[in-house]
Amino acid sequence: MHAIDYEAPTTLDQAVSILKAHGENARPFCGGTDIIIQLRAGVRRTEHLVDVKKIKELQALSFNAKKGLRLGAAVACIEISQSDVMRRHYPGLTEAAHLIGSLQIQNRASVGGNLCNGSPAADTTPALIALGARARIAGPKGEREVPVEAFVVSPGRTVLKPGELLVELLVPAPAPHSSDAYLRFIPRNEMDIAVVGVGASLTLDGDKVKAARIALGAVAPTPILASKAAAAIVGKKLDDAALEAAGRAASAACSPIDDMRGTAEFRLHIAAVLTRRVLLIAAERAKKN
Ligand SMILES: Cc1cc2nc3c(=O)[nH]c(=O)nc-3n(C[C@H](O)[C@H](O)[C@H](O)COP(=O)(O)OP(=O)(O)OC[C@H]3O[C@@H](n4cnc5c(N)ncnc54)[C@H](O)[C@@H]3O)c2cc1C
Repeated sequence: MHAIDYEAPTTLDQAVSILKAHGENARPFCGGTDIIIQLRAGVRRTEHLVDVKKIKELQALSFNAKKGLRLGAAVACIEISQSDVMRRHYPGLTEAAHLIGSLQIQNRASVGGNLCNGSPAADTTPALIALGARARIAGPKGEREVPVEAFVVSPGRTVLKPGELLVELLVPAPAPHSSDAYLRFIPRNEMDIAVVGVGASLTLDGDKVKAARIALGAVAPTPILASKAAAAIVGKKLDDAALEAAGRAASAACSPIDDMRGTAEFRLHIAAVLTRRVLLIAAERAKKN
């Protein structure tokens, strides 16, 4: 690995001006669990690493029953899985964060880094998409917000322009009788990346589904929002027919590849299976809220 300058600003303004000064030669980072490995392997190159963990806004984790969740980009996954607020209001996002690597990795890895790394198989990204999360971005031209489903544009590439950084994720407050869930399939019990990951959130009106969002990971070049799968259950009881229809639509939304973890055909099948299961889990939780 070549020599790299390291800076750790304590304010957003400082971080933006450092990133602006170095343009494409600088990268922000949080836990380093992706970037350090990629730099060592020569997959990425940078002259300046800008550690954004010391910026207060990037460490925020606050919930308001009306405004929802502000989740700083640098919040470590372990803080999410240990947070009562997260477990209570966003159990699906919490289980996605809890699945990342091992406890050691979760101590360093952030949800912001998981998203900014741009992997199609990132676990927290489908969970965020299912919740309708928005990414707040700061850069030399000011701030902007992007829906998480539009954040990753191709494997390893995001909407972030040189000089920009992800500040936080804004997640709407759950409506009454709502909840979320995340499931993934991996070939072994832990420490592997998703062959398929499915996040879902839904709101119930009595025994019918009032609103739903379903998102899939590891089945396309980017994590995807499966709108037709959600539409298949809205206004309906979550019975076998509705679940089958949602599963079929989720599978149809996929454009998977064959790789060492699974064939495309297997991924299509598992996407449907996990969609049915994750909807049932989210619905059980929603009934209690
Ligand atoms: C052993 C091991 C197991 C793993 N298991 C899983 C797993 O099961 N599931 C999974 O999804 N991932 C897994 N990962 C991947 C990794 O831990 C996650 O992607 C992690 O969440 C990345 O967060 P980080 O803070 O470490 O990111 P970093 O490595 O700090 O950054 C990742 C990328 O995002 C950019 N970035 C980081 N923060 C910002 C920001 N605020 N603004 C703009 N850009 C930013 C960096 O420039 C870099 O390109 C694993 C990694 C390891 C080493």
